[in-house]
Amino acid sequence: MNSSSAAISILFWISIVFLGVMLWKLVSANKNPGEVVSYSDFLQLIDNKEILTAQVYLEGNSANINVLLRGSQKYVQTTISASELPEITARLREAGTNIEISEVKTADWALILLNAAPLLLLVGFCLFLMRQMQSNRRRAGLTPTAAVRTGIGYDLHRLEEGRPLIVGGIELPFDKGPMGHSDGDVLAHALCDALLGAAGLGDIGTHFPDTDPQWKGANSMVFLEHAKKLLDQKQFAIEHVDSGVMTEKPKLVPHLPRMREALAKALGVSVEKIHLKAKTNEGVDAIGRGEAIAAHVVATLTPR
Ligand code: MG
Repeated sequence: MNSSSAAISILFWISIVFLGVMLWKLVSANKNPGEVVSYSDFLQLIDNKEILTAQVYLEGNSANINVLLRGSQKYVQTTISASELPEITARLREAGTNIEISEVKTADWALILLNAAPLLLLVGFCLFLMRQMQSNRRRAGLTPTAAVRTGIGYDLHRLEEGRPLIVGGIELPFDKGPMGHSDGDVLAHALCDALLGAAGLGDIGTHFPDTDPQWKGANSMVFLEHAKKLLDQKQFAIEHVDSGVMTEKPKLVPHLPRMREALAKALGVSVEKIHLKAKTNEGVDAIGRGEAIAAHVVATLTPR
């Protein structure tokens, strides 16, 4: 989630909280509705000093009085004209009643809805903006489709004596190693191509040309880390990686767990998502003669 959509989400949830508070106040205001009594009975309650507290709600030319009776939890209410209010409040005070006067009756649904209207508009505005941003991102090709994406990668390097043999991010004990501009890690290079291909982002040469001196002798894990950042920007998640590394010697199987760990670390995924296989070429062609090492990779991406 980028900062704009995060800000809109925060505004949205603030609006929801405000609406919740408003509805809570509305429910609170209605929780003690009193039984309606006549004006004469109400005056009798005042004279008998039976009223403990009184809440007065001014409503235009009239006033609603909701009272709690002494020695019970019973509420009663009556409505009087506004002109009668001074006398009534004076009599209530004389009878020792606590009085609370509100400008408007907070239980007025119409007023509540009018107050909530700006917030409802804000919520609507936030939802509209979120839809617009999603639509723009889709048009700009920044939002992946719902479909699972796959990419294929292949790489081969000649093996020469005196070069370190780096495969899958680790160095293996061997008297030969891959020729190459970088460290010549065939597995990392094929994996990088598979990831970039699945995301429609070109290939390793697009991002790390072998004519650029800054990549001479580079650790290929840097390429994978960069590819992962590009996938994050396009909101792709790495679902699975399957691969086969072909070399006649040395035997790779004992080193596969460490390779998986190194690759998983560079890509920021769990080891379970990286599957590696080691193959020989049965003595056939350059790989079979120990003159080269190669790797095939298939990567599967899913939208976040
Ligand atoms: Mg390569």
